[in-house]
Amino acid sequence: ARTVGVLALQGGVREHAELLFGLGARVTYVRTAKDLVGPDGPRVDALVLPGGESSTIDRLLRIFDLFEPLRATIASGVPTLGTCAGLVLLAKTVLDPAPGQQSLGLLDIDVRRNAFGSQVDSAEVDLDTADGPATVAFIRAPRVDRVGPSVQVIARRGEATVGVRQGNITGIAFHPELTGTTLFHRNLLGIA
Ligand code: GLN
Repeated sequence: ARTVGVLALQGGVREHAELLFGLGARVTYVRTAKDLVGPDGPRVDALVLPGGESSTIDRLLRIFDLFEPLRATIASGVPTLGTCAGLVLLAKTVLDPAPGQQSLGLLDIDVRRNAFGSQVDSAEVDLDTADGPATVAFIRAPRVDRVGPSVQVIARRGEATVGVRQGNITGIAFHPELTGTTLFHRNLLGIA
């Protein structure tokens, strides 16, 4: 079975893990650099950066000395799926960061946080994506306001770009794991 590292510092970790178990994957909860990289290279075949609060996850990444190892592991080509706050973390530019908020800068995009309103504006939405039709949840979701030339748009909600792919990295503004949509995780595992 493939081993998927789920970043487990804060946020919606369990739902991703359960969905991955359902697909027959092994899950490693990533909390330290040792969970991620061993003497022979990455310990995971794929990575999930879950939703939560991107500024909090960023702060914890730096406190636990995980920011740079995570950046390097993703940059080395490990297939990675970032959802919601995970998408914000992957972005080159966060247009409206919390004070001191940094991002990994691996996806050549600009994102705007909380672009669809607050928690009460959360919605379950049917999307046509490049990977197929998907029912997903938007919760204080970000929006992609700029994509670089090597970034493919894989999902839109109305006019707004809400899903992108660049090489090994897929970033989506929404939560497929809360509606049981397995499409993006199957894609990550190469069992699409
Ligand atoms: N608004 C949150 C952020 O900026 C993301 C919300 C979510 O992950 N559901 O990190």
